Amino acid sequence: MAISPWHQTQWRSLQERRHVIPSSMLIVGKSGTDLPNLGMELAGMLLCNVGNSDKPCTACNSCHMFARGVHPDLHVISTEEAEGMCDLRFRNHSMRYADSDSTKRERRTTVRNIITVNQIRAVTDALNKSAGLGSSKICLIYPADALNLNAANALLKSLEEPTGGTYFLLVSSSPSNLPPTIRSRCSRLNLNNPTSDESIEWLTVKHKVDLKVAQQLITHGLGPYEVLQMNTRENLEAHQALIDGLTSLISGNISAGAFARQSGIYDIVLTLKVIQSEILRGLRKSAQPHHDTDVPVLISPDLAVEFREALFSVYFAIGRFLSWPKKSVDEQLFLEDVALKLAFCAQTRG
Ligand SMILES: [Zn+2]
Repeated sequence: MAISPWHQTQWRSLQERRHVIPSSMLIVGKSGTDLPNLGMELAGMLLCNVGNSDKPCTACNSCHMFARGVHPDLHVISTEEAEGMCDLRFRNHSMRYADSDSTKRERRTTVRNIITVNQIRAVTDALNKSAGLGSSKICLIYPADALNLNAANALLKSLEEPTGGTYFLLVSSSPSNLPPTIRSRCSRLNLNNPTSDESIEWLTVKHKVDLKVAQQLITHGLGPYEVLQMNTRENLEAHQALIDGLTSLISGNISAGAFARQSGIYDIVLTLKVIQSEILRGLRKSAQPHHDTDVPVLISPDLAVEFREALFSVYFAIGRFLSWPKKSVDEQLFLEDVALKLAFCAQTRG
């Protein structure tokens, strides 16, 4: 797959440095900006048999297997949740380390969003045992922040004692969720994130997404690839229902409980990101009333001035929540708490 325009400069630099790529890398960027694809392309380049090529040649045996998703030296570790958003080439590779017990997989009611110690044990065994087709073996982990503590500890040993020709590519949009011991053993590459204007242009010109939809979802903190996934009638209706619910909550027309129950159907993390971005936009608008925004603000400048401190505290609380390890706090309970604080502002306004 082609490299996204906002990653082009760094991709060229990776191509130039292909012979000095560190054996453990932490590749960081904003979610929804095509991170797994960049990790895969880097893996493809390192695996290509044409040794002096600065990109996958697409013609050798290795490149053929890579494209079909069956390269024996590419070990992709992921979660069911993340797999669903990746391309076929990624999914075919990651299937090897997915929950092999299909009955167990079908019986579960939730989609697994963590990487388990069994997955890491299986991959480290495979890396140690197999001779390998070429001179390189790659272990690509995305999203690396989904490693649970046991899995991270199991991985640590391999990062500490890398065998020649083995590369660990850890790809993450929330690196603060990784244990410091893992982070300190990797060379970090911070990828460029697209600006709002770049994202909107890419969505509307290349993918013909409606301008208003693109503006609203990018404003609410989604990455361009997340917007593409959201761009179905059903999802957009759910997003609009969330905006309507938030508007009613802030104007005091529905209770915090009703809002939290209603938006609980929608992705809670996304709900919190929308609330966070609306608080920030409301506060900004109150400081710069003449600043024009393409998407109308939900929190009026009056409300933002009157409840400045309360809104800031909710804003930072959401930021802290989003940086905590997954499932360490009850998401629904946290959303209710946020809704209560916003409802309090609405009810006590002068
Ligand atoms: Zn090749």
